[in-house]
Amino acid sequence: MVYKAFIVKYSEISLKGKNRFIFEDKLCDQISLHLKECGEFLVKKEEGRVFVEALSDYDYDEVIDALQHVFGITAICPAVRLKSREWEDIAKGAVEYMKENYSSFDFTFKVFCKRGDKHYPITSPEICVNLGEVLLDNFPTLKVDVKNPQEKITIEIRNDAYVYSTEIKGAGGMPLGTSGKAMLLLSGGIDSPVAGYMIAKRGVTIEATYFHAPPYTSERAKEKVIDLAKIISKYTGHIKLHVVNFTDVQLHIYETCPHDELTIIMRRYMMMIAEHFANKDQCIGLVTGESIGQVASQTMQSLLTTNAVCTLPVYRPLIAFDKQDIIDISEKIGTFETSILPFEDCCTIFVAKHPVTKPTLQAIEKSEKKLGEKMEELVKTAIDTVEIIEI
Ligand code: ATP
Ligand code: MG
Repeated sequence: MVYKAFIVKYSEISLKGKNRFIFEDKLCDQISLHLKECGEFLVKKEEGRVFVEALSDYDYDEVIDALQHVFGITAICPAVRLKSREWEDIAKGAVEYMKENYSSFDFTFKVFCKRGDKHYPITSPEICVNLGEVLLDNFPTLKVDVKNPQEKITIEIRNDAYVYSTEIKGAGGMPLGTSGKAMLLLSGGIDSPVAGYMIAKRGVTIEATYFHAPPYTSERAKEKVIDLAKIISKYTGHIKLHVVNFTDVQLHIYETCPHDELTIIMRRYMMMIAEHFANKDQCIGLVTGESIGQVASQTMQSLLTTNAVCTLPVYRPLIAFDKQDIIDISEKIGTFETSILPFEDCCTIFVAKHPVTKPTLQAIEKSEKKLGEKMEELVKTAIDTVEIIEI
């Protein structure tokens, strides 16, 4: 059966009071953007729903997949627009829908009705009862089960009338572009792509910064990060990726500072440099994949020390997540297989055998003093030589 319409449901947007139209318009824009490659569609909003009508041929799976990548959607219902809102057309249309959609009729069902137009002359309960009877007359093997039906046949009456019985889960969250922009520190690991996905799910647009250390880290490690950015960009949209050559900064830290403090000091410089690019591009927050206690550099003391260099707020969507929960999300969004490819990260190369787990800001700042003016130059060079990759 060819569905001509998709009814898009959303939830949190409806809580937004007077600003609601801004969120709905963004959602419509995002839907249009995601469907651009799938065919021609009319996207319109109508009282708590977005209706997507196909104006050309399209591939069903492709459209569902595209809509499932749009944040802000809670459910997608492939629907058929009925000939008119007259009761006869609703009844006839629903029977046709059943014939085309099901091959056998030995299941239980319940009819649901939602009326956007409260002036419609027949009430929702009347439609449910009447249509239930019509369906039982036409398909005598069907059974009604109002408590736990196998199939939910739904009629929606708005400017037009629709019938549907399938509800596909959407990505949830808030439409992209409704919450400002943030800079993601993106490594090749499992966590940071998930963190980027999660912050974008709250409507935040993202840019990303990746620190690499050639020749200690290979071109393939960089390709891996680009691939990860491409995968999450299916959800987050366009990403401006900053690739920073971090080798000389890292070597200078390695040669100058106590080795058990390397990771913390490195992380502080990463934050500083990422914040520089963030400020330049009007990002109003940093995002990392850190989670309390996951490694030595992510104890609360380490996070306190790292945080101290930042003036922008640092968002850590995974802060209370167990590794397995993060892995589950990375599998769901399709980054896991790429994240586990065995290419080295710049943090793992210069890592100490016994890193500090309870650093103090005082001790770290004292060690950093030894880095001197040379460090300022190296940071400036790292910033000046940044490579920008548009994903
Ligand atoms: P991930 O799986 O995200 O790499 P991880 O468990 O390996 O996380 P760390 O290496 O301690 O954790 O990194 C913590 C966070 O610091 C990462 O989630 C990421 O946001 C940032 N980060 C680490 N390495 C890099 C890098 N090379 N480039 C950019 N950001 C990085
Ligand atoms: Mg990492």
